[in-house]
Amino acid sequence: MDAKKVLENLKQRFPNEPEYHQAVEEVLGTIEEEYNKHPEFDKVNLIERLCIPDRVYQFRVTWMDDNGNIQTNMGYRIQHNNAIGPYKGGIRFHKSVNLGILKFLAFEQTFKNSLTTLPMGGAKGGSDFSPRGKSAAEVMRFCQAFMLELHRHVGPELDVPAGDIGVGGREVGYMFGMYKKLTRDFSGTFTGKGLEFGGSLVRPEATGYGNIYFLVEMLKTRGETLEGKKVLVSGSGNVAQYTAEKILQLGGKVMTMSDSDGYVYDPDGIDREKLDYIMELKNLYRGRIREYAEQYPGVKYVAGARPWGEKADIATPCATQNEINGDDARKLIANGVIAVSEGANMPSTPEAVKVFQEAKILYTPGKASNAGGVSVSGLEMTQNAQHLAWSAEEVDAKLHWIMESIHAACVKYGTEPDGYINYVKGANIAGFMKVAKAMMAQGIV
Ligand code: NDP
Repeated sequence: MDAKKVLENLKQRFPNEPEYHQAVEEVLGTIEEEYNKHPEFDKVNLIERLCIPDRVYQFRVTWMDDNGNIQTNMGYRIQHNNAIGPYKGGIRFHKSVNLGILKFLAFEQTFKNSLTTLPMGGAKGGSDFSPRGKSAAEVMRFCQAFMLELHRHVGPELDVPAGDIGVGGREVGYMFGMYKKLTRDFSGTFTGKGLEFGGSLVRPEATGYGNIYFLVEMLKTRGETLEGKKVLVSGSGNVAQYTAEKILQLGGKVMTMSDSDGYVYDPDGIDREKLDYIMELKNLYRGRIREYAEQYPGVKYVAGARPWGEKADIATPCATQNEINGDDARKLIANGVIAVSEGANMPSTPEAVKVFQEAKILYTPGKASNAGGVSVSGLEMTQNAQHLAWSAEEVDAKLHWIMESIHAACVKYGTEPDGYINYVKGANIAGFMKVAKAMMAQGIV
């Protein structure tokens, strides 16, 4: 394969999908050499079959708001690849959602799921509906309208959705309820469910905890630990909250958190009690991070900005894609950051990744470090299939083991001649090879 040509071709066929092009470009650039060692792959045009989703569902969602007005949104499900297991990936509700963003996420998910050691294919879905500012009744009606269409395309052995931005336990509960009503089927068709109806212990914590387990593995390669390290966290949603919780448990100091309006910097660190405040503010009251600065004296709130200019040892972006650009990356390096662990999906632009890698700091892409969420989703599927529930200790131990395995795979495929571990290359090659071998074995389908 000629990676440049493949990308140009995809850009022509699928224009106006910049995030999808960005994700494909990053993967192709790192697997090209390994791919070309296997001429049998090119003979069956494996690369295009892997880049183009198996299937895309796109539909209108119609619902009534509290004032009796009829609203329309777009709904999507991208079933990207099911070579190694049923389609699996989250659902995102955010006003920025479009086809290109979901195609990038489904593409990434395929490699991430492959890395987890569990049998899961890749998918992603969502809507340009924003739960922000909506009443609980409106959110429920929207979730139900969304499922009126989606229920036809998902199932426990077919496609198993979960949460993502804007979709937490509440939304998963509403969607699962409607799925069950329409299909009369009580099965593990969603993960991230409530504990009372098939959810797994540690699923809410899994992405954030896994992110930090991975970070600890990276630090070990340089003889470092988290103890006493100052960490910049972005976001204040699910991933950011449990990333912060695990940092605190392991002796690190959380300096910042953010939302789409701005960030807070706490010179004393966000401790356990203050994190509880943020969790309550965000999860119960759906408040804004600015309120943290009003609550605690001495805290700085910076509107319309991201925290990357603050001084710290480690950064972990946990909000959204492309939230660290080249300039941010240079600021982080200038301020002495030694590690960047991505909790979000593709939060660093290609320029930022280049800056990190040229500075030879520890840098891991989300598809490796945030794979803990989907891993525990995979464990939730297993528990559902067995009709039993494991203890928190058992799930956490498995999560820990999976993150160590992903780290080991990155080291195996990503270590460069000078000893630098290129986690992007390692994750992409390890994720790709498993899917590629499965696709080869299954013929041209
Ligand atoms: P949440 O909706 O719980 O939280 C998202 C956080 O990021 C909020 O603080 C939100 O602020 C902020 N945010 C969202 N969009 C933007 C934006 N455009 N600019 C700035 N800030 C933004 O989502 P999650 O924590 O679940 O997801 C965060 C990231 O982690 C995403 O990239 C997601 O794909 C990824 N991820 C999530 C997994 C999971 O298990 N949940 C698994 C693996 C990856 P506001 O409140 O203002 O919207």
